[in-house]
Amino acid sequence: MPGPEMSVCEIERWLREDDPQALATLWEVADELRRRYVGDEVHIRGLLEISNNCARSCAYCGLRAENVNLPRYRLTWKEILEGAATTAALGWGTIVMQAGEDYGITREWLAEVIAEIKRRTDLAVTLSMGERPLEDLRAWREAGADRYLLRFETSDPGLYARIHPPLREGEPNRLEQLEVLRELGYEAGGGVMIGIPGQSYASLARDIAIFRAMDMDMIGVGPFIPNPDTPAGCGELPPLPEGEQVPATDRMGYKVVALTRIVRPDANIPATTALATVNRREGRWLGLQRGANVIMPNVTPRRYREMYRLYPGKAIPEETADATADRLAKQLGEIGRTVAAGRGDRRRMLC
Ligand code: SAM
Repeated sequence: MPGPEMSVCEIERWLREDDPQALATLWEVADELRRRYVGDEVHIRGLLEISNNCARSCAYCGLRAENVNLPRYRLTWKEILEGAATTAALGWGTIVMQAGEDYGITREWLAEVIAEIKRRTDLAVTLSMGERPLEDLRAWREAGADRYLLRFETSDPGLYARIHPPLREGEPNRLEQLEVLRELGYEAGGGVMIGIPGQSYASLARDIAIFRAMDMDMIGVGPFIPNPDTPAGCGELPPLPEGEQVPATDRMGYKVVALTRIVRPDANIPATTALATVNRREGRWLGLQRGANVIMPNVTPRRYREMYRLYPGKAIPEETADATADRLAKQLGEIGRTVAAGRGDRRRMLC
């Protein structure tokens, strides 16, 4: 039986498990812990992709600086405040502002935007702006930002170095930066991609054990989706031999969501867009039934959505925010869940 204290070897065994009955047990245990620790309410966060400019050269990501096939954009002050107003009007408790690592977004400007959102709404503000200097992170926290998402992508140092070249010599890795975010008082969110070429089962099992050891508040995981405009998406990163390489499938995604819920029962865990992209019909809903308790519908103005192209085929419905809200409430009802009220902060519970 999978349980919160599983060893790394047991986690790896579950990652390799393919027997349908055993997997049914994994889903059940994860769903039961989800119900017990975070309830049937699903937190809806409005995702606003505020810029696709990026200084980095991550081998997997379509926003990488070298990608000349991507038209670039940055939202205006007015567009950001409109996104926040829409999110608040729909009754969703959090706005997530995500971007490439865009130094055209200055410390002072974003601090002002955050403060203005806080003046105008009761929204919690989550940032996902990449590896910004300490002074930026501190200023944004002081301006009122509540949470910060920074996936560490993989805990395997060799693979991390291959997929995530540093911008500055000697910069801390993302696991170290997550510690800094916590010290600044943010709720901190980590996470990894699943099935990036070179990722072994053993290293993915260690990633999940790190979610537990670091007591992460939010944990986002999703399958790697190849983007032909990146080195990882055009065969430049060699996969491991069969049997060692983690597959980038939706099923592996559900396993990681379930194991994450089991080892970190009170964390906020989204059913991610990548999961919804690799299985358009059911990815999001199966994620929610196998451990997840958060969804992040897109509130970016429609003319920009296609430009925030981390990977091709991203699942982004062509509908208004009102229509999304109605549809989500209905679909959640169909799986016995409700839309949460309030900000959806992490509620710590002893396990
Ligand atoms: N710049 C910020 C950062 O790096 O944290 C936020 C934006 S970044 C695009 C958000 C996340 O997208 C990354 O942490 C990564 O896990 C995910 N991502 C990027 N490219 C992907 C791909 N090809 N397949 C799946 N996920 C991807």
